[in-house]
This record gives sequence, structure tokens and C-alpha cells, in this order.
Amino acid sequence: MPAGRASWPAEALEAAGRLTIDLAAITDNWRNLAARARGAETAACVKADAYGLGIDAVVPALTAAGCRTFFVALLAEARRVRAAAPDATIYVLGGFHPHTGPAYVETGARPVLGSLAEISDWAGFCRTAGARLPAAVHIDTGMNRLGLSREECLALPPPDDLARVFEVSLVMSHLACADTPNHPLTREQRDRFEILRHRLPPAPASLANSAGLLSDPALHYDMTRPGIAIYGGLAVTGRPNPMRPVVRLEARVVQLRTISAGSSVGYGAAQTVRRDTRLAILSAGYADGYMRAAGSTDLRAGATVYFGEDAAPLVGRISMDLIAADVTDIPEDRIVAGSWAELLGDRFTVDDLAARAGTIGYEILTGLGHRYRRDYIEA
Ligand SMILES: *Cc1c(COP(=O)(O)O)cnc(C)c1O
Repeated sequence: MPAGRASWPAEALEAAGRLTIDLAAITDNWRNLAARARGAETAACVKADAYGLGIDAVVPALTAAGCRTFFVALLAEARRVRAAAPDATIYVLGGFHPHTGPAYVETGARPVLGSLAEISDWAGFCRTAGARLPAAVHIDTGMNRLGLSREECLALPPPDDLARVFEVSLVMSHLACADTPNHPLTREQRDRFEILRHRLPPAPASLANSAGLLSDPALHYDMTRPGIAIYGGLAVTGRPNPMRPVVRLEARVVQLRTISAGSSVGYGAAQTVRRDTRLAILSAGYADGYMRAAGSTDLRAGATVYFGEDAAPLVGRISMDLIAADVTDIPEDRIVAGSWAELLGDRFTVDDLAARAGTIGYEILTGLGHRYRRDYIEA
């Protein structure tokens, strides 16, 4: 029986392929992280549609696993999290715009205030609303992106005055280099956080992303904010990834063809085959988030796809909707038009594709396209 020819829903045949998202692996990963940081609450970053995997499915699964706090980048994302988790605490990382006060009340989400101006806008909104509403305060300790600078921290009103106007429900900062073990900036950021957080009213503290959680208990504080590790991605560079892979991506073989030694494949004739070669043409491409930079040329090997246990290297550039794999070494009867190839899974992971494309797993996950049939394995 050729690889997986039967048993596919018609819908998958009409799509670029099939993306299977394992919610059980997601909740296992979250529990694994929670167990590594037992003294702290384990939140979850679900921005960018839960790193591309779907807020509507991921948030209820994490809620059922015990997660109570979610971080998103945008208010629009907070609305979707709220719809999926009526009782959760939701923080919006992307800065507070003064016109959005009512939307925070409506959704029950909390802004993460990252400048004196945002603090003063939120305080103004709370006074007008006549309510001491909760918000997080973000201190910049070395990322130089969002958050109060050291100077701004020193210019803050006294903690008691601040606490009268709104509730500081979390004090946080974000690590720039935790993915590199023992990076000196991580230590410096922790030291700065340790000093500056006391300029604010007493509140739970949060510093660690996935890498911080996995690499050093001194970074855990009261709440960790993992993202990538929940979704199975590599968080700490150069260490084995302790998380379960979450996504499996398969594309259909559109056709098979045999070309002679010396022929080139694809746009730009970027790769010439040295032997007579059997090619499987697969129905996914860079428009589906299968990044063009992972293609193959005469100078550089590209990504690998799998047919069952058999590996097949890509040949030539990745097109918008199609890729070509060299299946010469796989017995002919194992692959036919209509067979399925695994583009991402346990054998060739999101991080493997990222490495071939010169990027990180985060970009692969958040770039996964919308032309796949999406199936969820229930937690
Ligand atoms: C995205 C993000 C995280 C999660 O980072 P990971 O590396 O995915 O674990 C945590 N905190 C902040 C502020 C973020 O923006």
C-alpha cells in the first residue's frame, strides 16, 4: 500500500495539505513547564493566534490543563481569548492606547503599561471610570523595546500614590538573551529587575519566557510566561529540546516524474541533478509558510521531507504552491500520485525547517499558512 493514499477526507484533497495540531502535546508541554517552575504560576503566551496554532482551540485546552493567565500582543487577540476562556486573566503586551480604555473594561483584559505616559493615561482612565482597575507594569531591563526605562522608574510617583489610582497586578520585564545559556545580559537584566521592581507597589513579579523558565530557577519569580516551548519549539539554543513536537504537516504528491542526469529543477534552474532522478512534486509552497529560504541549490542542501520512514531531500527552489523532492532511493511502489509526504513532524521538526531557512521555529509556526486543512488531536 503506497504511503497514506487512502483514508483522507475529501476536504484535505482540496487543500494544500493537512496540518495536524496535537493539543495533548500542547497541554503536556505546559504541564511539563509548570512542573519545572512549581513555585510560580505558569501562564501562557498565546499571541499571534497561539503561535499560529489557533487561539480558539489552544486556549480551552490550556485552560482545562489548569492555565489561568494568558498573554497576547493585541486587544483584538484578547477578545478571542476571552471568548475561549471566560474566567481567565488576560494581559495585552502591546502597549496601552488611551482610546482603548472602554475595550479593556468590556473584555476584562488588562493592559501591560510600558511608559510613564501609558501609566498616566491608564490612571486618567481609572479616575474617569471611578474604578481601581488592574494593569501590569513593564520595566525595560535591557531589551530596549517596551517598558519603563530606569530613568522613568526613578521618576514614578510614590508606590502608595500609584496604588490608590489603579491596581498594579503584575510587575514584569522581558529577557533579551535567555535563549543563549549564561548570557551576561540575562544576569544584568535580573539584577536591574530586582532593584527597579521595588519602585512599584508590591505585586507579583514575572521575568521568564520559555528560555528563562527552562534555564534558571532564579528567573522564575511569581509567574512565568512561556510561549514557544508550549508549542514544542526549541527555546534554549544548543540544548536538547525537552518538549514534545506539536505539529505535523503533510502535503499531497501531485505527480511523479523522472528526469535525466544533467537536468535542472524549478525556478532559476538553481539545482541540477547528477543522476537520473525520480521527483515527487508536492502540493505546498512558500505561500503556505514553507519558507523559500529552505529550498535546495547546487551549493546548499534544503529541507527534507518524509514518506513514512523514508527521507527525501528537496530539489531546487520552493515555489509558491509546489516543491520537488528526490525520491529516487525510495522503492517505486511506495509512492504514487496522491500519496502524502510529511513536511513537518517528529523527524523533521519545526526547528529543523527553521535551521534550513536561516530562521527560528517561532517564524515557522506563526507563518504556517491558511491553505491547509487543520485537524486537532484532542487533549
Ligand atoms: C512572546 C513573549 C513571551 C514568550 O516568549 P517565548 O520565547 O515564546 O517563551 C514572554 N514575554 C513576552 C513579553 C513576550 O513578548
